Amino acid sequence: MTASCELCGENSGGRYLCERHTVQLAKRLEELPVLYNEVGECLVPRRSGWGEIIATKGAAGPQSPIDEDVLDTVNWGRAAEVLRLWRVDVQRERWPRHSPPPPPADLAADCRWLAMELEWIVDHYPAIGDLARETRELELQARTIVGDPAPRPQRLGTCVAIDGEGVVCGAVISRLPGQTRLKCRWCGYVYATGQDWANLEFFQPKEESCPSGS
Ligand SMILES: [Zn+2]
Ligand SMILES: [Zn+2]
Repeated sequence: MTASCELCGENSGGRYLCERHTVQLAKRLEELPVLYNEVGECLVPRRSGWGEIIATKGAAGPQSPIDEDVLDTVNWGRAAEVLRLWRVDVQRERWPRHSPPPPPADLAADCRWLAMELEWIVDHYPAIGDLARETRELELQARTIVGDPAPRPQRLGTCVAIDGEGVVCGAVISRLPGQTRLKCRWCGYVYATGQDWANLEFFQPKEESCPSGS
């Protein structure tokens, strides 16, 4: 049993990652699909031919062809492939007897799955150091295209879910640009459908208006 973090070597209380790096990995898994969505939006086909792609934004200017090596390595498909391999491996470690055939690779779903299993992974999966490093690498590569800083969470308002006693949750709800599914960290309500988002907007408490006069 290890006693130190696979990344920084700090005492981790018997887990394979320290608390700081566990949190960092969880955050990365959450942001990765958003980042790679943006990568897709930054790269559009040039002229009509497939395979010729230019960067539409970024420091290089609107018409500069970008490095083809970058296109080979930085794209949704490759990120999905990497995360898929990790998911399959974790699944095999955890449930060696029954490993169901994995569904088609889906970066967002695989990131979510890994994030949900993170507690187990940190406790039982020595290769987590490599998983964390590769995830970091994928993030850095995406950033070379979409730029830094990371997309900022937008504050949408407060949670409008109502509990069994009719009390409105009221926790702050914020999401990353492009994020379409979100779970309230306080009450666990999941905002996923258009109706959910519409309700969130509609039921926001009225802004306190500035009192007129003194
Ligand atoms: Zn660490
Ligand atoms: Zn809530």
